[in-house]
Amino acid sequence: MLENANSAGATPAAYDAVVIGAGPVGLACALEVQRRGLTVCVVDKGALVNSVVGYPTNMEFFSTPELLEIGGYPFPTAHYKPLREDALDYYRRVAVSEKLPLRLYERVLGLEGQPGAYEVVTEKGRLVARYVIVATGFFDVPNRLPVPGADAPHVSYYYKEPYLHMGQSVVVIGAKNSAAKAALQLVRAGAHVTLVVRGAAVSESVKYWIRPDLLNRIAEGRIKALYNTTVLGISAAGVAVSTPEGELLLPADYVYALTGYRPDYSLLEALGVSFQDDAARTPTHNPETFETNRPGVFLAGTVCGGLNTSRWFIENGRHHAAVIASQLGVK
Ligand SMILES: Cc1cc2nc3c(=O)[nH]c(=O)nc-3n(C[C@H](O)[C@H](O)[C@H](O)COP(=O)(O)OP(=O)(O)OC[C@H]3O[C@@H](n4cnc5c(N)ncnc54)[C@H](O)[C@@H]3O)c2cc1C
Repeated sequence: MLENANSAGATPAAYDAVVIGAGPVGLACALEVQRRGLTVCVVDKGALVNSVVGYPTNMEFFSTPELLEIGGYPFPTAHYKPLREDALDYYRRVAVSEKLPLRLYERVLGLEGQPGAYEVVTEKGRLVARYVIVATGFFDVPNRLPVPGADAPHVSYYYKEPYLHMGQSVVVIGAKNSAAKAALQLVRAGAHVTLVVRGAAVSESVKYWIRPDLLNRIAEGRIKALYNTTVLGISAAGVAVSTPEGELLLPADYVYALTGYRPDYSLLEALGVSFQDDAARTPTHNPETFETNRPGVFLAGTVCGGLNTSRWFIENGRHHAAVIASQLGVK
């Protein structure tokens, strides 16, 4: 159910709870809240499940379908592991079946008001809410390379599909699952791929069915891998790197810097959520209740882990929904 933005000067719409983020975890939270008889609205700056929309075309999830389910809805797929497209269809059908009120393409900018009477400030207006659930994930802010040329037009921090690159020289920066899968797809689509790895090896955390495939393509010379190598800069001439053997300029028609993502800390600050002084810069929240330093404002899903973006994912983050919803009082 798409909700209308309130026009300027109109009385703000009021809900028991506003969920920020229409990702899998935000949707799980909204349906748990609604099933307890409370009014809820989900606001997203993009499309429904916007992060999944941004994943590579036909990407296969690591999880089997039952581990991605929300609200008890079975996730039927013809595959052992669902594809991105299966998940897009599944989460849309859940949102429609539950008649979840949605405000899409409406970015949240901040949070005003008091506990029990918050005002969620969006780019289109204000929403009054007794409770706020922040499920904003981590996919919107890439870890940009701290080098000249990091934002050049032929550099992307998001990989979609390989077909633009047949016959091109493509440099892939990174050593985890996204970089490994992109390098494999690109070489199979006819690109000349160089993989730049900061550490001494492809990460051991790369899934057990992907890592040997990549290592075998490297061993047979179809993918060139440079280890212990850091990027110095990117220009039209190529990617300048520092290797144990000295500096090199790698030819690059295109560069995929798949160096990970981080939560939007400027948004969390605008919501009044503070951070811990730890390595993960963990947003302050009670790990039992998920309530933040602002009473009645909760975190859910990946955002809970701060810079440790692999701490919470769909499989385990979806369970935050029931924990949070059980604490919201019915008026
Ligand atoms: C390539 C890839 C493959 C993955 N595979 C798996 C897997 O197999 N299994 C698994 O469990 N996990 C997997 N993950 C991790 C998983 O997708 C994320 O952990 C998951 O998306 C977390 O869900 P979420 O709802 O917390 O956040 P997200 O899905 O990221 O949703 C956050 C939402 O918040 C919105 N938002 C952000 N800022 C604002 C704002 N200011 N105003 C309004 N809306 C905002 C975003 O647009 C987005 O829609 C994968 C991740 C990637 C990148």
